[in-house]
Amino acid sequence: MHLSRYPRVRFCHGPTPLEPMDNLTRLLDGPRLLVKRDDCTGLATGGNKTRKLEFLMGEALEQGADTVITQGAVQSNHARQTAAAATKLGLKCEIILERRVEEPGPQYDSGGNVFLDHLLGAKIRHVPGGTDMTAALDDVAKEVSGRGGKPYIVPGGGSNPVGALGYVNCAMELLQQANDMAIGIDTVVHGTGSGGTQAGLVAGLEGTNSGIDVYGISVRQPKVKQEEAVHDLTLATAEYVGIKGAIARDRIMANSDYVGGGYGVPTPGMIEAVTLTARHEAILLDPVYSGKGMAGLIDLCRKGYFKKDQTVVFLHTGGSAALFAYQELFTEQ
Ligand SMILES: *Cc1c(COP(=O)(O)O)cnc(C)c1O
Repeated sequence: MHLSRYPRVRFCHGPTPLEPMDNLTRLLDGPRLLVKRDDCTGLATGGNKTRKLEFLMGEALEQGADTVITQGAVQSNHARQTAAAATKLGLKCEIILERRVEEPGPQYDSGGNVFLDHLLGAKIRHVPGGTDMTAALDDVAKEVSGRGGKPYIVPGGGSNPVGALGYVNCAMELLQQANDMAIGIDTVVHGTGSGGTQAGLVAGLEGTNSGIDVYGISVRQPKVKQEEAVHDLTLATAEYVGIKGAIARDRIMANSDYVGGGYGVPTPGMIEAVTLTARHEAILLDPVYSGKGMAGLIDLCRKGYFKKDQTVVFLHTGGSAALFAYQELFTEQ
């Protein structure tokens, strides 16, 4: 895999640290836990979309775009990182935010990431839940072209083979760190949504025969649906980077036991995971993705899913800006 063949803009403060979580390891009496700090990637509080945007914005510049358009849920971290990337490159940014969460708290519509989107200078449109977001993106693209602009659409979550290259790159970075630190990694665990993170990681870790499992904790879809979507994107990504031989369906593992009431809907496990990780590791998770991902990891450790002599890396995908849109959930803790 030779990623310098693809257009790319450098945004990421990398390599992101790979750090032990000794306190949580002791508390859970489980496998050795480490964290890969992709919450520290840069772009206005960081997160996993920064790596994807390196390649997506590379393509946008190559195509001569002057406006990037993307979509997400109201508290989308992806939208905020896209706004930041566009600002750095001097491009305009149009964001469409879909109301996917019912009965959110008082800060949900204007705090957290929405506040940062405004601060970063993006143009924001709010649409109701259930809107055809692909059509909505196309409509804005036509509007931009109509006024003489050159639009580039970033898919939701930045999840297509171009964006997933960011996580092929992360897989290689992680392997290098593990080798340098003489750490044998058994499994990488992370929250999985639009699937580009897991697809890129699996493509990178399989394409290098690393023998490392990737275990996605779903934040929205049932297990089989999530695994099939991730597998399709993994195959497309592997083909895009020229990995020989198809990656087997059983290399895609997702668990949807921690979704709770649905995307962005708080769960007791998430609240416990965010609180425990803050109080024992001083690491800030988020309520929608990394909090549910960590809730899954904690529960699996308690159930003895991993052996004590195994090493598990939690990929911290970021999102802590959204904490400020869900503050009231944690005030009781
Ligand atoms: C988008 C996001 C994810 C999920 O990544 P996908 O590539 O969409 O599966 C996880 N965590 C955070 C904080 C995110 O913003």
